[in-house]
Amino acid sequence: MAYEIKNYMEVIVDEFLNDVLRKYKDVCHCKRCISDIKALTLNN
Ligand SMILES: [Zn+2]
Repeated sequence: MAYEIKNYMEVIVDEFLNDVLRKYKDVCHCKRCISDIKALTLNN
């Protein structure tokens, strides 16, 4: 159950992330910054 919720959250975050990267092309796209954005998203 918890695992499924986590998976679901990651799908949502990935979709959100794609959106953000498309809108803000000047944002750094390296793995480190992307995981930073992901962490911020998961905390909100
Ligand atoms: Zn970066």
